[in-house]
Amino acid sequence: MESQPTYCPQCDKTVRVAWTSSVAHEAHATIPDGGKLLCFDVGEDCEGMICPLSRNSTLLMGVRLARSGEVPYEVWPHDLLKCRGCGRKTGMEVLDSGHAFCPICGTTNTRKI
Ligand SMILES: [Zn+2]
Repeated sequence: MESQPTYCPQCDKTVRVAWTSSVAHEAHATIPDGGKLLCFDVGEDCEGMICPLSRNSTLLMGVRLARSGEVPYEVWPHDLLKCRGCGRKTGMEVLDSGHAFCPICGTTNTRKI
């Protein structure tokens, strides 16, 4: 997936974004309406905000990025937690201070702070 730099007014910096279902690499006109924005720089800086680029919560943006598989597992910060989805204790991909994503079953879990 090809990312492109875009200025984010919320984070006041340039972030890398991509579309989940772009069919062609040409122009914006070829991107279907259903294409979902992925932000590769979603993180602590924007936690609890509404992403101004996608108008989704930053938690949703984190979940979407985790599900996309675009970021290698090793790159995510991890937390060893028991999953309420599959019941296994595993190193979860930390989405924000309150949530983590299970790489085994894809459940978003609540973290105790
Ligand atoms: Zn799980």
